[in-house]
Amino acid sequence: MNQFEFLMQQMRCTFHSEVTHSLDWRRGQLNQLATLLKAHETELLEALHADLGKSHAEGWLTELSVLNKDIQYTLRHLPRWMQPKRVRQPLLALPGKSYLQPEPLGVVLIIGAWNYPLQLLLSPLIAALAAGNCVILKPSELAPQTATLLATLVPQYLSHEAVKVVTGDAAVVTELLQHRFDHIMYTGGSRVGKIIMRAAADYLTPVTLELGGKSPAVVLADANIKVTARRIAWGKWLNAGQTCIAPDYVLVEESVQTALIDALREACTEMFGATPNTAKDYGRIVNDHHFNRLIAYLNDGEIAFGGDFDAQQRYLAPTVLHQVPRHSPIMQDEIFGPILPIIPVASLDEAIEFIKQHEKPLALYGFSSSKQKLQQLTQSTSAGNQCSNDTLMFMLNPELPFGGVGNSGMGRYHGRFGFETFSHFKAVMQRPFSPDPLFRYAPYTQFKQKLLR
Ligand code: NAD
Repeated sequence: MNQFEFLMQQMRCTFHSEVTHSLDWRRGQLNQLATLLKAHETELLEALHADLGKSHAEGWLTELSVLNKDIQYTLRHLPRWMQPKRVRQPLLALPGKSYLQPEPLGVVLIIGAWNYPLQLLLSPLIAALAAGNCVILKPSELAPQTATLLATLVPQYLSHEAVKVVTGDAAVVTELLQHRFDHIMYTGGSRVGKIIMRAAADYLTPVTLELGGKSPAVVLADANIKVTARRIAWGKWLNAGQTCIAPDYVLVEESVQTALIDALREACTEMFGATPNTAKDYGRIVNDHHFNRLIAYLNDGEIAFGGDFDAQQRYLAPTVLHQVPRHSPIMQDEIFGPILPIIPVASLDEAIEFIKQHEKPLALYGFSSSKQKLQQLTQSTSAGNQCSNDTLMFMLNPELPFGGVGNSGMGRYHGRFGFETFSHFKAVMQRPFSPDPLFRYAPYTQFKQKLLR
């Protein structure tokens, strides 16, 4: 018997009992999760620090506070989201009524990534519980302290019968995928995303794939360069560049390239001082494999600033590269680290052409004082999410869905969109027995046909 067979049976049994369906149960679980996060805040922040060198302030800002807000927002709106949604009734089906009834999907699998190991696992959990599902959580093995802590804490606060944390590596995911789930949400790279989707196809299980890719920032000559640089620097060097929506590279109008590099250097010094290796708020690369991969990119251009590293600490300085050939490895792969290549372009049109020749990004950033130029960027390109004159901030709005398009993923979540991802909207029509106009039944005489037209 596969080690997860019993677990799956138990989860399915819980789901069939309908205990997870009620508003009270859903609210109860969400409140318990909020209690867990509050009661173990320090341990959670310590685990994040141990896994990624995240400072407590950054861990709070990008993980715990996001989750707390997510829970509060969901609790506030859940009763309305669970309501059936009335739609119009066609003339031929009168009297009667039609509506969409949200119902939970069943047993769902959530596979998290390591870079925001709490947020990327628990935010989908909030949505899945709000929608009334049973959930198996698989945290990333590359953030082991956070994974182990979650495996200890979750059973202390959430329903044993409906929520389980399974730890382990790819082999564990492979085993889990042999079972039938009602939905799988995976966050991580697209190579594994394809493995997940192939396995899900065996059971026709729907998937949400939150993947990555190269997210460009386009800086036009009319942008406020100081503010632009500060916002790009913040989005890029948060979590040492290991953020799926971090600006991966910059396409800058030639005339402001030098000014932008100078302003990025200044912004970097303002945030991390002259020696970022001693800065409290600058993180570390997650493991040796990723560290060595990133160091190799330093040869792909000229270092404008940064570039120093310490293998023992897995420290790599915030780095800007220029003179980067467009076909060099750093411009092919997702960087997922603190190196920012700057590519000069002659115009917005050239930047748009460049973006169109590549895979659709998860995020796209445009910086300009011209609304019309920003609008042109929006209309002429495709991306999962777009933000003008800032980076990352769209994540703070629960009214906006988050998700990729094309190679950067499929499906979406956050706020109501997460609830919808983990629900089926059953189409329901209700009719009374009478009246029962006979003209709809065969035989279709000419008179009946006339009435039916
Ligand atoms: P990862 O290595 O942590 O893997 C994610 C999950 O996949 C883990 O739970 C792991 O156990 C599992 N896994 C790994 N190999 C597997 C295999 N062969 N078969 C089955 N399961 C396997 O994450 P990663 O891929 O290194 O994450 C980085 C990528 O994730 C980047 O591309 C980044 O852009 C993307 N990302 C996307 C988002 C988003 O929200 N869209 C968020 C974070 C990261």
